[in-house]
Amino acid sequence: MTFVTDTYSPVTEETNWRENAACRDTAPDLFFPIGSTGLAIEQIAAAKTVCDGCPAKEPCLQFALDTNQDSGIWGGSTEDQRRTIRRQIRLTGTSR
Ligand code: SF4
Repeated sequence: MTFVTDTYSPVTEETNWRENAACRDTAPDLFFPIGSTGLAIEQIAAAKTVCDGCPAKEPCLQFALDTNQDSGIWGGSTEDQRRTIRRQIRLTGTSR
């Protein structure tokens, strides 16, 4: 079995998008702001800017939705935004 050395997660077809992640060389704290006000607003904006240029943005967001990631910035989305997407999927069967 192959492991990604920095996360110790098994590399599978579902997780190999991490190899292209723009945040691989970014401080992880940037993607896990404390709260959603004050300094966290700037932190969230900075994290989303990294996500906007990330080639793994779509699979990252899908992973976060599939695995119910309830904290942090994933695929350019905040926790609240993912909650909204999940609600929309439940109601309409689609996120778009
Ligand atoms: S979309 Fe954002 S959080 Fe996801 S892998 Fe890319 S840079 Fe990291």
